[in-house]
Amino acid sequence: MYRSRVLAASTVLAAAATVLFAGAPSTQAAGKPAPPNRVVIVLFDQMLPQYADEFAMPNFRSLRDSGTNFKKAYLGYMASETVMAHNVITSGLEPRHMGWTDEAYRDHGNVFGKGADQMHITGDLSLSDFALIEKNNGVAYPKLADYLHAAYPGSEFITVGEKSYAVESATGASGDIAVRLSGRQKDVTSDYPTGCRNLSIPGVPGNGQWRSPAGKNVPDYLTGPDPVDPKLCGRFFINADKNNDYGTKAAFPSWLYPGEGNRMVPGNDPQHLGGDTWAADAAIAMMHRENWSGMFITMGGIDKAGHMWGAQDDTAPQDCTTLAGMTHVQCAAENADRQLGKVLDAVHQVDAQRGGHTLVVLTADHGATYGQHFYGKTASGSGDSNWYYAPANLGVWDAGTEGGLDQVTYSNPSPDIAALNADGNVQFSYQSTAIEAWLLDHSQNADRAKAKQMLGMPGVIATYWKNPSGKRCQLQGTNSMTRSEKEWWKAHAQSIVDTMAAPDGPDVVGLLHDKTSYGVYGDHGGAQESVQRVPMVFWMPGMKADATSESFRTPDVMPTILAAMGIRTTSRTDGRPHALGRGHHGHPW
Ligand SMILES: [Zn+2]
Repeated sequence: MYRSRVLAASTVLAAAATVLFAGAPSTQAAGKPAPPNRVVIVLFDQMLPQYADEFAMPNFRSLRDSGTNFKKAYLGYMASETVMAHNVITSGLEPRHMGWTDEAYRDHGNVFGKGADQMHITGDLSLSDFALIEKNNGVAYPKLADYLHAAYPGSEFITVGEKSYAVESATGASGDIAVRLSGRQKDVTSDYPTGCRNLSIPGVPGNGQWRSPAGKNVPDYLTGPDPVDPKLCGRFFINADKNNDYGTKAAFPSWLYPGEGNRMVPGNDPQHLGGDTWAADAAIAMMHRENWSGMFITMGGIDKAGHMWGAQDDTAPQDCTTLAGMTHVQCAAENADRQLGKVLDAVHQVDAQRGGHTLVVLTADHGATYGQHFYGKTASGSGDSNWYYAPANLGVWDAGTEGGLDQVTYSNPSPDIAALNADGNVQFSYQSTAIEAWLLDHSQNADRAKAKQMLGMPGVIATYWKNPSGKRCQLQGTNSMTRSEKEWWKAHAQSIVDTMAAPDGPDVVGLLHDKTSYGVYGDHGGAQESVQRVPMVFWMPGMKADATSESFRTPDVMPTILAAMGIRTTSRTDGRPHALGRGHHGHPW
């Protein structure tokens, strides 16, 4: 079924190899370098393409300018959320075909056993939950890990990053190793008698709330004690005490979604650096020790800073040597780039030691906009209850990353969202840079009535309702837009909204103006151009530089990786492969 242009010699019998290579695509001409036999995806959560030039990101620029840069890449789907992109990238599918479409999930088929049409929050699903719903019409689809396993038997697909729902949605059923930060633990000192405290750092809480590596098949070398002093916990334990908010709790807009210790920033303890430094260090440790063919490194630092301070609106120069500075977008971007540099050094070492080449993919899971027009509540800590609205009498199932399914309510909505539910027909709504509503009565008439009502909400440019076929969203109406909003909307909005047309998805969708948010100050989730645009770079040694304006959507990532590696897809994808490294002369690398 699978053909691969490069297979590890030890895994293939000579006779079989002849057959396999005889069927290899003709692009592998004599004298050209072999295609890549490993792939590393480095995802910068919420990175806007322009950050590479606005901030000091020399490693990103270097790969972008010497690899294949799809300058006009965009997601092409909704919801433009972290928990979506990590599976779009690893499946080549649009949300409507991948089992869930948004931050919330209507359990149409009662797969979680809490009742048909009960609502669940996807950001809190467990790894096994994701594996359960990674199906299109009940059929499990192959993901990047499955293709790599078939092409390189015995090799591992590894995902690593701070966020559980990013790592676990990318891992799904077939990823081999998943490493992310655990939930906050009250006390890890029972395992480590002298605690995790670095005694040389004044003011670092010693017995605060720590996070440690968790996930699937987490290697011992990430969870073990300090190699020098076994009474101390190891490098990959992170002080995530919320008391260390580095000033983000005292200021608007960051207090909507304040920092929590060193989860998303390098932080205050040099022995236990957090954020993207943690993710990269864990990735590199595994890169050298594991037999991997695919690695997905997802770095959450830029996203946290962007949510707190307003993404592209957070441009004031920062002193990144200070803890307060570290919470801002500039410092997050520049630290992420330093981590990319470390990862690339490791990639070069692995290529030299193991042979072959590694294809490196740089992208983001979504862009962002900011709340110049802000319709959420502005009180400290309002982020979650701005995003989620589950009326008190209904609730939503919230799995929690450490297991245990609870029914919770988010019943403290902003006034505009409360008004949306004046008729009591809203079962759940999620609002960020779009508004998405699941209705109790989701008949066509009820959907249309709610779409009409939503068109009157502040910041809304267009509303849609899911038509009875369930495969499309129907435009209810529009409000006035700026010229640039209208151009983007006309070209892309309908196809983007249609990717949410699935039984689990929202019944009514409202798109918002640019620079408009109902969630936190810097936000994403909708169809605005700056939310949809993402960097998209493919690089490997010897590739001809190519900056192309051809249309590229994020579902194209997996087909493009597989084509570059000479692996044929065996299942339908929504994305399509793009040629890489054509440079100025039309040659492959
Ligand atoms: Zn994200």
